[in-house]
Amino acid sequence: MDEILIIGGGIGGLTLALALEKAGVPSRIYEAAAEIRQIGVGINVLPYATEVLAGLGLEPALAERAIATREAAYFSRSGALIHREPVGRFAGLDAPQFSIHRADLVDVLLGAVCERLGADRITLGARCVGARQTADGVTADLVDRRSGAPLPPATGAALVGCDGIHSTIRALFYPDEAPPRYSGVFMWRGVSRGPRLLTGASMVRAGVTSVGKMVVYPIKDLDDGRQLLNWVAELDLPDSASGFTRDRDWNKTGDVADFAHVYADWRFDWLDVPAMIRDAEIVLRFPMMDRDPVDRWSFGRITLLGDAAHPIVPLGSNGAGQAILDARALADSLSLAPPKAAFLAYERNRLPATTTLVMSDRAGVPDERLRAAHALEAAS
Ligand SMILES: Cc1cc2nc3c(=O)[nH]c(=O)nc-3n(C[C@H](O)[C@H](O)[C@H](O)COP(=O)(O)OP(=O)(O)OC[C@H]3O[C@@H](n4cnc5c(N)ncnc54)[C@H](O)[C@@H]3O)c2cc1C
Repeated sequence: MDEILIIGGGIGGLTLALALEKAGVPSRIYEAAAEIRQIGVGINVLPYATEVLAGLGLEPALAERAIATREAAYFSRSGALIHREPVGRFAGLDAPQFSIHRADLVDVLLGAVCERLGADRITLGARCVGARQTADGVTADLVDRRSGAPLPPATGAALVGCDGIHSTIRALFYPDEAPPRYSGVFMWRGVSRGPRLLTGASMVRAGVTSVGKMVVYPIKDLDDGRQLLNWVAELDLPDSASGFTRDRDWNKTGDVADFAHVYADWRFDWLDVPAMIRDAEIVLRFPMMDRDPVDRWSFGRITLLGDAAHPIVPLGSNGAGQAILDARALADSLSLAPPKAAFLAYERNRLPATTTLVMSDRAGVPDERLRAAHALEAAS
């Protein structure tokens, strides 16, 4: 079979290349950035996704770098414990939950792609600006990311848009789609060195976005006994025409002065939040965004995957995990059928489930326990 062109070398695109390789389907990645690199913060990979990565033979490499999360712990805004429960293998599941530095996750994926497919299967600095299809193939139009000068077009049997929430490939089929939808919650993310958090493998959610919410989990054990803590501060922030909530870009540098005051009295016996914020090595800011689900991803020989297909608010730690599930489903379909039929089967398999998840995370379902506890605390 001719190659599958993968547009975008993020978590979704890299996992897809590995899943296709396992299925015996050749592929090639075109990535706009000059290097495949992730921002310096953490990510939680839920068991449904680590199971897929284990199937690709990556669990040992990931386990070496990640924290195998032991429990999810929920606290009120005043630091009172609401609930804690085991997760991953500690809850009896077949697969672990991994809290990991994004750079480590991508390093493992990229290393495997280079080893199994060859580094020459990744073209860097090539931004896809369009795609055309004929009866028996696709052509991707590429430009140099810096100069904008045209590059030789890429041809293949089919194309998968793994190019994220601002997907160029999605825009080909939805040219009038509105920009990503701001949820009304703004996030600042950082990493700080700090004392071991609870069990040393706990994922903590505390408070609610109306008065300040904080998500914290360790992503690395340090040699001095401390841990590298990944944290996300979440606050309700109304959209405004001039404010930074309008900026739909991710990964902008954040300023602690914009939110640290909200957490000034969050000094608990299990975590000193002001100290953690003060010691941040990096602070990034993000409007919490998603898009309305669409009812079609597959158009002949072109389909969408990951955030390009179903961007989701990061309340439930689902975005990358769903991209990983997409990758397995798409590779399975392509191992059984030619691209057009495979893409339709993949869409039938994955679109309804991701639509449900996008809408339930948009409705704030992962935070229900925190909101109920806050209402009780406020009433007492
Ligand atoms: C604050 C926050 C916390 C999160 N926490 C979690 C979590 O704990 N667990 C989880 O599972 N998910 C989490 N997510 C979601 C997760 O980061 C995304 O869902 C995931 O990265 C999507 O992967 P992707 O490969 O689809 O897209 P991306 O990671 O966006 O990758 C897209 C790639 O395509 C490239 N590209 C873009 N346009 C073009 C083009 N025209 N041509 C060529 N290349 C192009 C980009 O450079 C990029 O490398 C979080 C998200 C945020 C914002």
